[in-house]
Amino acid sequence: MNIIIIGIQGSGKGTQAALLHKKYGWPHINLGKLLRDHIIRKTELGLVVKEYIDKGRLVPDDLVIKLIKPVLDAADSGFILDGFPRNLAQERFLLDNYRIDGVVLLDLDDETAVKRISARRHCSVCHTDYNLLINPPKVENTCDLCGGKVVMRDDDHEEAIRMRLNKFHLKTKKVIELFQERGLAIPIQADQPVEVVHQKILDQLNL
Ligand code: AMP
Repeated sequence: MNIIIIGIQGSGKGTQAALLHKKYGWPHINLGKLLRDHIIRKTELGLVVKEYIDKGRLVPDDLVIKLIKPVLDAADSGFILDGFPRNLAQERFLLDNYRIDGVVLLDLDDETAVKRISARRHCSVCHTDYNLLINPPKVENTCDLCGGKVVMRDDDHEEAIRMRLNKFHLKTKKVIELFQERGLAIPIQADQPVEVVHQKILDQLNL
């Protein structure tokens, strides 16, 4: 199955994608993570995209499409796409080149999203994700897995979060409308326990 998960940051896209991946093995392709990997490895692309990401701005389409195309092409048994498409140009690229079986829309209001994102942390060494509200490290500021320092992501401060939410509303809404017109959209209320949301996704996709 080729599935897309769309929702404002903090709506639980990553969590739900990870659950689907665990159950079915389809790769979870998270564009934000692919971009951050380049920044960590200080590649040529990483140096270019860092400025956009730190300011909460979208990275230009030609760069993200060039990055994601080989990853999608290699996923021949299916994929769970998270963080892409974020505008109509990216959506057209997807619809023109790949079969899409369903688009899960995780609905969450902005204030709840800001609260959830402000609690996000990750390990500065091995990059394991944490959330102080639902999944804190066992020892404060210390990674459970490697003992590294657990910190906030550079782009998770409130100003950048609000800018990303505004971008989402401006650009991604049009993306959602086109998926709705194509009959691919599956709306799900995201302010519910993780397991409930997961089960609703399975039901709606007939999995
Ligand atoms: P995320 O981890 O999804 O919150 O993404 C973090 C940042 O990566 C965003 O604020 C953007 O700067 C960049 N990014 C992620 N996905 C995309 C995309 N589809 N198009 C352009 N930039 C993106």
